[in-house]
Amino acid sequence: MLPTLDRQTRLLVIAPHPDDETIGAGGLLQQVREAGGEVRIWLLTDGDNNPWPQRWLERRIWIGQAARERWGRRRRAEVVQAMSALGLAPEQLEGFSWPDMGLTGLLRGQFAAMLTLFEARLRAWCPNVVVLPDLGDRHPDHGTAHVLTRLALAREALSPTLLTYLVHGGAAAQQAEVLPSSDAYQAAKRQAMEAHASQLALSGTRMRRLIERPETFTCLEAARSGPLLSRQLPWSPPVWLQPGLRLTLAGSVGVRRWSWRRAPLVRDREGRWALIAEATPDTGPYFVKLHMDLPSPWIFDTWGWHEIS
Ligand SMILES: [Zn+2]
Repeated sequence: MLPTLDRQTRLLVIAPHPDDETIGAGGLLQQVREAGGEVRIWLLTDGDNNPWPQRWLERRIWIGQAARERWGRRRRAEVVQAMSALGLAPEQLEGFSWPDMGLTGLLRGQFAAMLTLFEARLRAWCPNVVVLPDLGDRHPDHGTAHVLTRLALAREALSPTLLTYLVHGGAAAQQAEVLPSSDAYQAAKRQAMEAHASQLALSGTRMRRLIERPETFTCLEAARSGPLLSRQLPWSPPVWLQPGLRLTLAGSVGVRRWSWRRAPLVRDREGRWALIAEATPDTGPYFVKLHMDLPSPWIFDTWGWHEIS
């Protein structure tokens, strides 16, 4: 059930990129503000790795570091303008400036530093409602943002209401709930989307369609933690694909990665794969990701993350 919004509400919205705050929670942000609650948006990246709109709008082919940083500043300014349309002040935004399209790599390489920063900010803000990307979102930064948020909350022993939103791919879970809206909220949300002008240049139709759909959240049970009931994986990759596959396991104590063949897995009689018990010695949550390390123009995840519960 969606939480009651009032003056006690302390909402945190996790946005991997500029525009996720508006698409994912543009209506909710306004409603919490009107109810007298408090709001923070954590912007994990500046959306600087966004070459096609940049090539189009800046009339350039080659994008070097300086151009990329400039684009990030532009998108960051667009978020502030979008927030103003939603009735929010720039101080309600906290930026992390992590690499766009690089959150999964950062999680593997700098897990402790990322988690420490997240935990410190969580302790300081103490949200009682956290809106975060759906674990099943096909954009790798979105799935990883979910994992990072869940692990930091578990380590801090915080259990706010968790609401997930889905931007890329798949249908929302069956138990997803629609946030009631009004013409005024919807008009402000549209205006906020128009502030993200860099994203409308090439994808205006898709972005406006995302804004017009009902705002929908899936309520997760309070940060699950406790003994694991099943370590089963949802994937059964064919043998010919296995040499190229990598398995990443993220838990509150760290992140590990193996080739599929070396991963600590067992197979049951029905052919289903599961992690061995020694791979997950602590209480959950744990998350696994299956992926291939091949250069590809396709940015979206084929398998993505899965929660071991
Ligand atoms: Zn995004």
